[in-house]
Amino acid sequence: MSAHLLDGRGLSKQIRSELKTRVDTLKEKGVHPHLHVVVAAQDPASLAYVRMKRKWAEEVGIISTSWDVTPETSQSELMDHIATINQDPAIHGVLLQHPLPEHLDEDAALLGLGSEKDVDGITPQSLGRLTADLPGFRCATPLGMMKLLDHHRVDCTGKRAVVIGRSVILGKPAALMLLQKNATVTMAHSRTQNLPELCREADIVVAAVGKPEMVKGYWIKPGAIVLDAGYNKVEGRSGDVGDCEFESCAENASMITPVPGGVGPMTVASLLSNCVDAAESLLS
Ligand code: NAP
Repeated sequence: MSAHLLDGRGLSKQIRSELKTRVDTLKEKGVHPHLHVVVAAQDPASLAYVRMKRKWAEEVGIISTSWDVTPETSQSELMDHIATINQDPAIHGVLLQHPLPEHLDEDAALLGLGSEKDVDGITPQSLGRLTADLPGFRCATPLGMMKLLDHHRVDCTGKRAVVIGRSVILGKPAALMLLQKNATVTMAHSRTQNLPELCREADIVVAAVGKPEMVKGYWIKPGAIVLDAGYNKVEGRSGDVGDCEFESCAENASMITPVPGGVGPMTVASLLSNCVDAAESLLS
């Protein structure tokens, strides 16, 4: 392997330590940051991920509460709950876990959530603000990737970036954020032709697909930067597997995120950072 590791675990730890100081200052001024999680997942892996977010929130001193969506929860109960948390001045940030169960209208729920509490940056209001270059909360996962690039002083200006995946929570906002950093961005998806050739022209490759080890080393231009957001369970293998074939990609890349320990911990750090920003905005 020749690539430099973009250590999301280490940077996330550093960010969380800085957040703890900011939270202590807020508490001295009578504001106790509070993250509320609407828990929708039934599968154990998602639940474990939510638990981890809540645990890290508590470690930096953020109050963490939750409300469970169950198969019995009706749309009106969900909307009433969202209206209640919108009105609650003690709650600064809300994480609306998704996907919601099929009987619930997720778009209505996201539209109902106040953008000033959308610390995950996934409501249409927040995404619209990103598109319009207006201030607002940015989507936690792509924001985490940008923080990693900034930390490693990567100047995206003029660089060619290929973002593989166009989901609303990841691929699209990642492409917009790279565009804001003056990269020339191509968005790829399941109908894209000649993806390996396209990637080979890129200085930055973002993999946000959900297909284990789809991106191969020979797709990567020597010296390119690889950001792998994927985490996939693969039968017979322990732990998470990224969307990139790590060993072969690391042979060609100059920098690469590991899975685990790359983008994942940065997502949580960005979410918590947004929550502290939300609490601080009350004092400004
Ligand atoms: P998603 O909503 O399923 O979107 C996947 C995207 O990949 C779609 O745009 C799809 O294209 C594209 N795609 C699928 N097969 C492809 C192919 N063969 N070639 C090119 N593009 C292809 O997934 P997501 O929510 O964005 O998540 C993507 C990955 O990131 C998953 O592994 C997920 O677990 C992970 N993730 C990580 C974090 C984190 O904190 N690290 C957070 C969220 C998600 P179409 O639009 O054409 O279908």
